[in-house]
Amino acid sequence: MDKKITEMLRNNQRWARKRLKYNPNYFKDMAEGQTPDTLWIGCSDSRVPAEILTGNHPGQLFVHRNIANMVIHTDLNCMSVVQYAVEVLKVKDIVVCGHTNCGGIKAAADLQSRGLISNWLMHIQDLYSRHQTLLNSLNEKHRLDVVTRLNVAEQIWNLGRSSIIKDAWARGQDLTISGLVYDIEDGHLLEEGVDASNSEELEINYRNYIARLLTLTDQDLDQEAIDRIAKDKLAEDEEENNKENKTFSYLDYY
Ligand SMILES: [Zn+2]
Repeated sequence: MDKKITEMLRNNQRWARKRLKYNPNYFKDMAEGQTPDTLWIGCSDSRVPAEILTGNHPGQLFVHRNIANMVIHTDLNCMSVVQYAVEVLKVKDIVVCGHTNCGGIKAAADLQSRGLISNWLMHIQDLYSRHQTLLNSLNEKHRLDVVTRLNVAEQIWNLGRSSIIKDAWARGQDLTISGLVYDIEDGHLLEEGVDASNSEELEINYRNYIARLLTLTDQDLDQEAIDRIAKDKLAEDEEENNKENKTFSYLDYY
């Protein structure tokens, strides 16, 4: 057997033994069924594993991943996942998470033909064309980061206008959709402020978010990064002072 697969099997056995050491009923409980409260729609990129970077246990996130975290109305795979999550699992939150240094975002920028995948990336190329004036005014790093953010907003917009979400909101289901961006360079998840709990909020928040993005300059984006470092430092100090409140998390298993 391939060396890598042998290693994976060995790691898996070690992992299963550890779970049982913490909780002898771990797998018995897991086999009873799942009750995740969140659907995560993220990129397939190997550097963005939903459970690990959010400190969630198996069973806590329902996950769908594809190239560049897209929600396309004609994608039966994604739409089936959304329907099951909303109508059967009755999740309270749906997160669309983009990330920096995304291969899909980069590939869409250069307009080279890559066969089948070019059709998928065309959705992102449309974003480039639509916001060309803003994007041309930014340096390359900022340009790609802003397209990542525009793409997250666009997918939240698509999701919120899908028949599944519109129907859920119309019958009063408690459901919030939110956009996040994961910064691969420092491991932080960033709230984008493009979220909604009903159709009216979606209209307002999406339009405001896009309008705000379209005013950004290189200087603004540099300042955002400086402000974030200061905010992270504050949060780190606060956590240090509240160590006794630390809860057990999936990460503690390792
Ligand atoms: Zn990606």
